[in-house]
Formats: sequence, structure tokens, C-alpha cells
Amino acid sequence: MEKTVKAKKQYGQNFLKDKNIINKIVTSANITKNMIVIEIGPGMGALTEELIKVSKKTICYEIDPDMVIILKDKFKNVPSEKLEIIEQDFLKANLNNKFKESDNITLVANLPYYITTPILLKVLEELSFIKSITIMVQKEVAERLAGKPSTKDYNALSVLVQYKHEAKILFDVSKKSFYPEPDVTSSVIQITKKNHYKVAMSEEYFYKFNRNIFRQRRKTLVNNIKESYQYDRCQIEEILNKEGLNLKIRSENLSVEQIINLSDEFMKL
Ligand code: SAM
Repeated sequence: MEKTVKAKKQYGQNFLKDKNIINKIVTSANITKNMIVIEIGPGMGALTEELIKVSKKTICYEIDPDMVIILKDKFKNVPSEKLEIIEQDFLKANLNNKFKESDNITLVANLPYYITTPILLKVLEELSFIKSITIMVQKEVAERLAGKPSTKDYNALSVLVQYKHEAKILFDVSKKSFYPEPDVTSSVIQITKKNHYKVAMSEEYFYKFNRNIFRQRRKTLVNNIKESYQYDRCQIEEILNKEGLNLKIRSENLSVEQIINLSDEFMKL
């Protein structure tokens, strides 16, 4: 049945066909009846079908109109209070208008791998209060999300994930669980809320600062800041000295806490 649908590579369509994996993802997400689930890329609804059984409501964002037709038909008997299908590029969705902090929201998805990073940057910046995220990603991306400072896996996304959350790799998923099979091994990762650092003075500034300082990995922190902002070298060096940092340091060697402190200092300039 489902195999007759032609998967679109440009939308990262690799559909889950393994029922055990689908159930394992939904069970690991610890969804309760008072929770709203956001699903990005429901495809033909393999995960959605299970998500609606355990949640208060599931809200899906799907970019491909052909998938939306299939979904609307498959779930035609499900009431709109239980399932909302939004035909939209998730990256263009206005999340601030749609969700508020008091909503009990969780995100569960088999993500389109070609946009994993922008999706997560968006979710963690716009819905920084989200309690948990349970997602299928490429194995190597999962490792980056849980990456620690001074490792090759550590980047702006690792910092953002670890700022208010904690990432844990739950299990790997073989290529054989998908149709069509992807080129890479996948992992299911869970990101849960954990307030372990102080909150940046301006989160808006911090989010941009964090992206900017990792812009060019081979450059020093000073040069990355110089390229993104109007500050002069003396001002930058003064702040680094104040924070006890070597002037040649690279962003990948900074802890999450040091990045928050730097962001606070530069914001005050
Ligand atoms: N959830 C389904 C499953 O597990 O079988 C499909 C997962 S498939 C890896 C990714 C899905 O994301 C596809 O349905 C694709 O059309 C959708 N998608 C791709 N880019 C998207 C975007 N920018 N916004 C919303 N959905 C997107």
C-alpha cells in the first residue's frame, strides 16, 4: 500500500515502516493525556496515528501537499480537537503566536534530515520552555547535539541544546526500518528541560551571539566577533581579558556558561 507512494528526496522523505520502532519512539516520549504534541513532517501519518491515541492533541506541520491529502483522508474521522494538520513549511511557522509557556507541549518527530539544524535552532529559540523533544535524527547529528566543549561535535546547536536542556541518545535505528532506506544510520534522541545555567540577560542577543561566534570554525573567537559586530578589537580584547580568556581562544573551547557570560558582557557595550 504505502510503498506505492513515491517518496520525495527533496523533502527528506524516509517513511518509518517498522511498527516496533514507532511504538518505541512514542513510549519513550512519555506522553500523557494532558499534553499537546507537535509533530514536524507527519508524512503518511505512521507516527501520528500513535501520537493521537496518547495525547490531548497533536499538531502536525507538513510541507508536502500530496502528504496532506493522504493525511486528511487517513484521519478524516479524527475530530479537530484531537488533530490539527497544518500545510506549511515548519521553518516559516509562527510558533510564538501558536504556543504559550503554560501549554504542556512536547515535540515528537522523525525529522527531515536536510533541515535538522534549522528546525532545532527554531524550536529551542522560539519555544525555549518546551519540556521535551523526542526526535529521530542522523546518528552523527545526535552525537553533535550531546557534544561537549573542545570536541569536534561541539557547535552553536550543542550550546543551544545544553543552555536550558539536556540531550540523551536513546537508541539507534537501522536503515531497514525506513522506506526508502536512508543513506545513514539514525538515532532517536531526547532533549529534556533542565535549568542548569543562569539565563542570559537578553536571550535574543544570546541566540544571535551564539550563532555568530561559531560562524567560522577555524577563526578565533575575537575574529568571529569582529566580523559580526561593529565592536573594535580593543573592546573585544578587554572583555576577553575580564573573563580570563586567552585572546587566541576558539569558540569550540568555550563552555556554555562562558558563552552566556560573554553574551551578557557584549550586550552591555
Ligand atoms: N513522520 C513520517 C514517518 O515517520 O514516516 C515521515 C518522516 S520523513 C523523514 C520527513 C517528513 O517531513 C516528510 O513527510 C516531509 O514531507 C516533511 N517535511 C520536509 N520538509 C519539511 C518542512 N520544511 N516543514 C514541514 N514538513 C517537512
